[in-house]
Amino acid sequence: MNRNQQLFERAQRSIPGGVNSPVRAFKSVGGTPRFIDRAQGPYMWDADGKQYIDYIQSWGPMILGHGDADVVAAVQQAATRGFSFGAPTEGEVELAELICELLPSMEQVRLVSSGTEATMSAIRLARGFTGRSLLIKFEGCYHGHSDSLLVKAGSGLLTFGQTSSAGVPEEIARHTLVLPFNDLPALEAVFAEKGAEIAAVIIEPFAGNMNLIAPGEAYHRRLRELCTASGAVLIFDEVMTGFRVGLTGVQGRYGITPDLTTLGKVIGGGMPVGAFGGRRDIMAHIAPLGGVYQAGTLSGNPLAVTAGLVTLNKIRQPGFYETLSQRAARLAAGLQDAAREAGVVFSAQSMGSMFGLYFTAEVPQNFAEVTRSDIARFNAFFHAMLDEGVYLAPSAYEAGFVSIVHDDAVIDATLAAARRAFARI
Ligand SMILES: *Cc1c(COP(=O)(O)O)cnc(C)c1O
Repeated sequence: MNRNQQLFERAQRSIPGGVNSPVRAFKSVGGTPRFIDRAQGPYMWDADGKQYIDYIQSWGPMILGHGDADVVAAVQQAATRGFSFGAPTEGEVELAELICELLPSMEQVRLVSSGTEATMSAIRLARGFTGRSLLIKFEGCYHGHSDSLLVKAGSGLLTFGQTSSAGVPEEIARHTLVLPFNDLPALEAVFAEKGAEIAAVIIEPFAGNMNLIAPGEAYHRRLRELCTASGAVLIFDEVMTGFRVGLTGVQGRYGITPDLTTLGKVIGGGMPVGAFGGRRDIMAHIAPLGGVYQAGTLSGNPLAVTAGLVTLNKIRQPGFYETLSQRAARLAAGLQDAAREAGVVFSAQSMGSMFGLYFTAEVPQNFAEVTRSDIARFNAFFHAMLDEGVYLAPSAYEAGFVSIVHDDAVIDATLAAARRAFARI
């Protein structure tokens, strides 16, 4: 038994399933999860000392690569001044100002410690603001694990959602409607029928939790119009896309102004930070100004805020996203060429520093299409790449990420590995 296997056995004795977040268990791809010992730049090393090129990037945050010297130095310095105070700090104000500057739809912002907290709080705020209960979400979008969001589509378009997790009362699921993603007629139908009851629509503007699916501008423009006309709060969940598709998120790319935005991942630079914010008149309903309660012992933690601030100040430098996007585009195109040479049915795309790999002939446009991927082939490819020292997301339904230190040499090494992997799956 190697060390990864030993650790996995040991972990399962004290931790349910051996992991602290389910996807880490490799359940959908099979095999033993790699226990990571350390990471630097584009690489991670597991407990057996094997090196991997990392394309999950802690599921998005590590946009500068692992162990960026400026982030590490700033966090070390911050640690000497204190870990947590439970009182406000200047760093939180700086991070809030920077977020509001980069995403002008966010007139005010509240910091929390995870993406889950951000979306849960934004939904409560939208309900408190509108005095309505009904929430609209979309099939295949993930917004964290709070009760209202662990809901899947009912049997018909206008039937209430069903819980997708044990432990969520049906009464809660009844307040969430789940629509097909990137489907304008479905959207029109629900607003025509229930517009006046809708408190909020929450959407991943580019979905990164069912692989990568990017609706066009027209879809988002119409969604914005429908929300405005009905008085529903439009929540862009940019926890993943926020600083991944570009410096101004999907909202900047399409010129759409959501009412509220949720952030996470990159804004903490690898430490636990989430945020929600938007229109000042809506944010005025949050405690201590208003009646919608929200709080957090570690919210705005000084070490986490420092990591986020240094990260955001580096990624806003001119040319950063051009370089980053070229890297992801080169990877996606190269993988597609490698698959074609091997005669494997495969497609790929990138959006900023996010990429999607699909074992389908065409890039999917919705959840139903993505579920037609050849999962067995994906799993074989995942393990072949892992053997080759390339760590992809251990699921066919996750997006991948490149960092600024995934330079041409790293991408070339990945493509060489992919040609060998495609040839033997
Ligand atoms: C990761 C993610 C979340 C949840 O964030 P956590 O920090 O894991 O709680 C919410 N929404 C989206 C779009 C995400 O990608």
